[in-house]
Amino acid sequence: MSKKKVLIVVGTRPNFIKVTQFKKVAQNYPKLDIRIVHTSQHFSDEMSRLFFEELDLQPDYFLNLPEKLSPVPQMAEIMKGLHDLITITFKPDLMMVVGDVNSTLAGALVANKMNIPLAHLESGLRSFDNTMPEEHNRILTDKLAHYLFVTEEDALNNLKYEGIKEDKIFFVGNTMIDTLVAYRDKIHQSNILKELNIAPKTYALITLHRPNNVDTKEGLEKIISFLKLLDIRFSNSIKYFVFPIHPRTENNFKHFQLWESLMNIPSLILTKPQSYLNFQKLLMESILVITDSGGVQEETTYLNIPCITLRPSTERPITLWKGSNILLEFDENNIANHIHYLLNTTDKPSSIPPLWDGKATERVVAVLNDLLK
Ligand code: UDP
Repeated sequence: MSKKKVLIVVGTRPNFIKVTQFKKVAQNYPKLDIRIVHTSQHFSDEMSRLFFEELDLQPDYFLNLPEKLSPVPQMAEIMKGLHDLITITFKPDLMMVVGDVNSTLAGALVANKMNIPLAHLESGLRSFDNTMPEEHNRILTDKLAHYLFVTEEDALNNLKYEGIKEDKIFFVGNTMIDTLVAYRDKIHQSNILKELNIAPKTYALITLHRPNNVDTKEGLEKIISFLKLLDIRFSNSIKYFVFPIHPRTENNFKHFQLWESLMNIPSLILTKPQSYLNFQKLLMESILVITDSGGVQEETTYLNIPCITLRPSTERPITLWKGSNILLEFDENNIANHIHYLLNTTDKPSSIPPLWDGKATERVVAVLNDLLK
């Protein structure tokens, strides 16, 4: 029996986090041969290497891109690399792209040009902010996709509103949560709190890396001023602010000569980017999270940890109306007031969105198996 071949294209660590269970689940489907190609969009990133090691998983193929390419040559290299892989090594019956990065759109274009049916995992999310490059990647990929897998109801409605036929859309849930569930025991075993010498529920966790927040001197000065304010105002209730600093953010603080000022904030614990398991442990044991990440909004919703997202919009609205997330503008007094409210409320209004149950990958693979009959 010849197997039906599926090629999953991922380009970044956050997107790899969404596909960790696919090959395991595919073992229950003898007809399917699922392989993962990592385009290496962020291959130089230390976090990626750590991630593969600690989860004991490896992509089947790497494209080995030259480092630090700007978006157009990067997409061109990814497309060429995928073309060669598909022509020479593994010709899939279906390609699946993930998320909203340049590798997603590059993979979608290759599938289209090579006449390979295309599925999009994490389809239909919209921030309605056309200044975000990711928004264009999402919309264009969805236009090219034959099968659209969605994580939340808003995404389903967005796609319907855009005229995509309902029989192409599959509401399967969130595969990123599958990874959290699958590695729960390993996460609990992480020693990161001991290593940082902090106790559970004594600290807030911070991640900031979006260009809007960290690419200008003014933006970075705002972050320092805001952290100083929190340091003083919450000295009785939040002992530490743990900030695993993204390479982009660190480089910019150094470039604008603000690194020393950042390091001088007494309650701030600056660390390297954390491995996946350590970071999830830090999330679970935090009092609250301040972020501009996409994935962290979903993980805090699942874990019911209050999350303050410093962005004007989110493509993941379910984290606002069902989860523990709130969007705030970067106004330090307003953020401090909200933290004060969070520390003094006993309300726990957050709940887990439908189908964020650790079984989303199983649903996707069952659909793929049916489609490829
Ligand atoms: N993450 C991690 N270590 C860190 C910071 C984040 O493992 O130091 C994880 C986080 O839990 C989430 C993913 O990386 O699963 C999100 O990455 P990021 O915020 O860089 O990207 P985005 O989701 O905004 O694309």
